[in-house]
Amino acid sequence: MIDFNLLDEIIIQNKSFILTTHVNPDADAIGSEIALFKVLKLLKKEVRIINHSSTPYNLKFLDNNNVVEKFIPEIHTTVLNEYDAIIVLDLNNLSRTVSMKDYILNSPSKIICIDHHQNPEINADYFFIDTEVSATAEIILDFLLIKHKDFINNEIAIPIYAAIMTDTGSFRFERTTPKLHRDIAFLIEKGANPVEIYDKIYDQSKFSKIKLLGRTLNSIQLLHNNKLAYMIITQNDFIETEAEESDTDNFVNYNLSIEGVCLGLLFIELKNGFKVSIRSKGDIRADLLAKNFNGGGHKNAAGARFYEQKMDQNIINNIIENSIDYLKSIGV
Ligand code: 5GP
Ligand code: MN
Repeated sequence: MIDFNLLDEIIIQNKSFILTTHVNPDADAIGSEIALFKVLKLLKKEVRIINHSSTPYNLKFLDNNNVVEKFIPEIHTTVLNEYDAIIVLDLNNLSRTVSMKDYILNSPSKIICIDHHQNPEINADYFFIDTEVSATAEIILDFLLIKHKDFINNEIAIPIYAAIMTDTGSFRFERTTPKLHRDIAFLIEKGANPVEIYDKIYDQSKFSKIKLLGRTLNSIQLLHNNKLAYMIITQNDFIETEAEESDTDNFVNYNLSIEGVCLGLLFIELKNGFKVSIRSKGDIRADLLAKNFNGGGHKNAAGARFYEQKMDQNIINNIIENSIDYLKSIGV
């Protein structure tokens, strides 16, 4: 159980906070930042949100006051050094802040990690980690319900709802508990509209994204008695469809919608390397498999990034072989 009294004390005792999150932020990353930003503002704190990546277009509505800044060393180094605390959200390894990592490490500010991933690999001064919850925003919500329930207005309910909706795969993943549904009901009462939020995040796609999805589905291959499915997106696919990396969010889950498939991989060629997204069902541990490639994540959703490495058939085959070996090792 997280010590929310301690979190509250830290917030009371410090004046200025930087909030940041991982590369290619999802709705949990942005939603947690925006909700916490609004809470800190209500507490009259100085606060800025500074991220390595810009906010994906379908999540911009969460940042209705346009407060999220994209990290620029010349502009932000002083702030990173002078603010009392840097709160890193929805990540447990500073490499996930990419260009900000060294600046955060060199800053004298306190580092506070609020997260829900397994196996933290970060030197923070304070940890508020709960790997049992669905989303980082659920930690923020638990904190508010216990310490500042009357702060929860529609401005705070909306980003938290969006974060939890997406990190639970629209309320269907394992961590979707009765307690969570009750807390979500409270957010709806406070002004989070399920129809509008779902529509803004998932049903306002650019046509380019749907074209990329078509190509990605076409690339699916089945292996290991049809228990493993994988898909590949190349830079050429991005160029020809005019889609971008953030458009690929959730594509990997289609692997698991195929009968009998219990492990799904998505290889994405990036401008300076590639990433593999891993999704699994039941007791198949996506996070342990990702660790073989210096990645991480959750039990059923994990990933790894390979910087400055070319995505060729050899390296893809290696990762697939490694995945099949893992499946065999647990008798699948
Ligand atoms: P996605 O496949 O959606 O990019 O990521 C799925 C999960 O795996 C996320 O919760 C994310 O935190 C984790 N993850 C993805 N890539 C990496 C990585 O390179 N390193 C670590 N530690 N975790 C990752
Ligand atoms: Mn998350």
